[in-house]
Amino acid sequence: MACAILPDADLISRWFDIPHTADLGHRGATHTILFALLMGALGAGGAASFRTSRAWAAGFLFLATLSHPLADMLTDGGKGIMLFWPLSDKRFRWLVHPVDVSPIGVRSLINGTLDDILLSELVWLVLPALLLAVLYRLVRRPYIDSGKGQS
Ligand SMILES: [Zn+2]
Repeated sequence: MACAILPDADLISRWFDIPHTADLGHRGATHTILFALLMGALGAGGAASFRTSRAWAAGFLFLATLSHPLADMLTDGGKGIMLFWPLSDKRFRWLVHPVDVSPIGVRSLINGTLDDILLSELVWLVLPALLLAVLYRLVRRPYIDSGKGQS
């Protein structure tokens, strides 16, 4: 969950008057494939504490981090995501933007649009994720250890 949230830590760029469209501005460097790879690599180091392989931990944390910018690309606000930075400064969005963008700041959330934003995120992000999780659970073959070794 931390990896999926961490890309929006770039909002602290506002404290330093970094322009919204700068590489280190909102939806910039922390919303990239490079950042997701970095989070995967850092997480792989902690794989032993979760009793899993480094490759599995790295892949899982990479995808968890990358889910954030890919979901942001579905929102109807902003200028897009610099997904391929530093190779390209081009900002990308999906062709459709059904998710209402969440305003920055608590005061903005209280102005009466919170219900619409949460409903939009529920329909376009949470429910599809739950559906995928259920489908994965249904098609995943359980690991069965028959106790018979191959020789
Ligand atoms: Zn974001």
